[in-house]
Amino acid sequence: MTTTSIRPLVAGNWKMNGLSDALGEAEAIRDGVAALGGRAPSVLICPPATLVAALAARMERSALRVGAQDCHWEPSGAYTGDISAEMIRNAGGTAVIVGHSERRAGHGELDRIVRTKAAAAHRASLLAIVCVGETKGQREAGLTLDVVRRQVVASLPEGATAENTAIAYEPVWAIGTGLIPSLTDVIEVHAAIRRELASRLGETGRRIAILYGGSVNPGNAGELLSLPEVGGALVGGASLRAEDFLAVIRAAMPETGSALA
Ligand code: PEP
Repeated sequence: MTTTSIRPLVAGNWKMNGLSDALGEAEAIRDGVAALGGRAPSVLICPPATLVAALAARMERSALRVGAQDCHWEPSGAYTGDISAEMIRNAGGTAVIVGHSERRAGHGELDRIVRTKAAAAHRASLLAIVCVGETKGQREAGLTLDVVRRQVVASLPEGATAENTAIAYEPVWAIGTGLIPSLTDVIEVHAAIRRELASRLGETGRRIAILYGGSVNPGNAGELLSLPEVGGALVGGASLRAEDFLAVIRAAMPETGSALA
């Protein structure tokens, strides 16, 4: 767990999964989190855009937060198929993922686009979860720290603070594959991100949550979430079933995460 953030954040990214019947799964997550009481981490679900409003309505008066998986950088306009940060806010969302590798790779999103999207999130008072991470080729070439540091620097807008921004370190090769980096590799990358944030942003950079993402599941969450500077998790596949997601959420509670030396 990070030494600097107060409460871990566990965020679920449902990607392009979920019709209206998925709202029942979210209710089971909400009830499971409520049963954990005050020690529960902060929990966020990012469903497809079609479900943001309905999910936010169902999660009203609960501790669960609802977010989106992407936003446009403009507040409105002729951008067919896109949604703005203001629309997410208006639908009841309080957060948005930006720069996910599936958007960087599949939609050609460069760091400067990610930065404008994070700025849009801030403009609409949303938490921006800014994703960074190396490809398999970059890791094998020994470029991981360079790539991740560059992405952090280039993707963060002016005015990023611990209150409006979280970073998600997601090795691209670990997403949806069942593979994860060694724990020492996770420690190394999170420490490098922390150094970069602290040197650029000072005090607030020491408090920005750094989440780990990439094949987090009930079996590995305890050890991943107990690592230094791991302030939570961004969870894809394992967030789709309440039982699995709740197990990851429980692992983020300080007493239940296993400790690494
Ligand atoms: C993700 O897409 O953000 C992710 C971490 O996916 P998974 O947990 O399925 O690897």
